[in-house]
Amino acid sequence: MSRYWSSLVHRLTPYVPGEQPKLSRLVKLNTNENPYPPSPRVVAAIADELANAGESLRLYPDPNADRLKEAVAARYAEFGIQPQQVFVGNGSDEVLAHAFMALLKHDLPILFPDITYSFYPVYCGLYDIAYSTVPLAEDFAIHIEDYAIANGGIIFPNPNAPTGCLLPLASIERLLAAHAESMIVVDEAYVDFGGESAIALVNHHANLLVVHTLSKSRSLAGLRVGYAVGHYDLVEALNRVKNSFNSYPLDRLAIAGAVAAINDQEHFATTSQAVIRSREALRSSLLQLGFEVLPSAANFIFTRHPQYGAGQLAAALRERGIIVRHFKLPRIDQHLRITIGSDEQCQILVEALSEILQFVRSG
Ligand SMILES: *Cc1c(COP(=O)(O)O)cnc(C)c1O
Repeated sequence: MSRYWSSLVHRLTPYVPGEQPKLSRLVKLNTNENPYPPSPRVVAAIADELANAGESLRLYPDPNADRLKEAVAARYAEFGIQPQQVFVGNGSDEVLAHAFMALLKHDLPILFPDITYSFYPVYCGLYDIAYSTVPLAEDFAIHIEDYAIANGGIIFPNPNAPTGCLLPLASIERLLAAHAESMIVVDEAYVDFGGESAIALVNHHANLLVVHTLSKSRSLAGLRVGYAVGHYDLVEALNRVKNSFNSYPLDRLAIAGAVAAINDQEHFATTSQAVIRSREALRSSLLQLGFEVLPSAANFIFTRHPQYGAGQLAAALRERGIIVRHFKLPRIDQHLRITIGSDEQCQILVEALSEILQFVRSG
């Protein structure tokens, strides 16, 4: 605390990201990174850009990242998406931040689930946006009828985080129809692991913004690229905020790598399918160990053991060099969120858990 701080900074409660340990050789299953490397075409595109860096790094990058917007639009061409309907940013966290300021700051409180991405209340604090949380059902599902409240906008991840629960596209369509006067933001950070993207609905609903990241399903958490797709007017609002903040959120290497990643559908499909297969295998192994495991459409699972505390399990895993995420929050403080690693990492995890359970049982 300092007298030089603004009163806003005094009031902030910042987001706490999952730990990025400096130690290597850990089995790192705490921040939903992809266990597989990005497409080799990404590495080649960045190398090409670097080969030319003596010339190109001297110059600012394209402030609009037009090549990337064209690549995203082309990927969703079946839904008639145009490049001008795409907004790009420095990770989807930045895209979300701009969406809160540009589209979710109104007189009435915005709504989001009580258990959800813990960055949402942080943006509300930063931008002074009122919000109310809507409790998830007992089984952690989102019930769209519960959102029938006057609101300044609605935002949720689909699949939800950290639960992994998926809301079917038909429910999102009903929500959009019921709230034509409200902005609805669907954060699809994990949609590629088992959901259907609401980008299909964008050209039918002018109040829908869909946010994606290259951090999870494209294995590029380190490159910091995210994007949003919506009606031209929504993208214009985001551009106005972005151009009042930082004109060049994506550097030359990020643009080159992101374009290559979007264009390599085959690598994407292979690695996403591998994660999905490992998730289902891990789920059955954990069920066999007596864990309760929510069905997941994401690259993580959300689980609890009826007999063992989540804090105790997380600490015992850490002693064995395995890190998972434990949120000390109401309703979920007995759950663990475990990222789907490689099959080898999943096996190490299952062996460690079965040892820990035996040890606790006999000790
Ligand atoms: C990981 C995640 C993001 C942020 O992704 P970045 O593009 O890496 O900033 C956004 N929303 C949810 C729900 C996430 O889990």
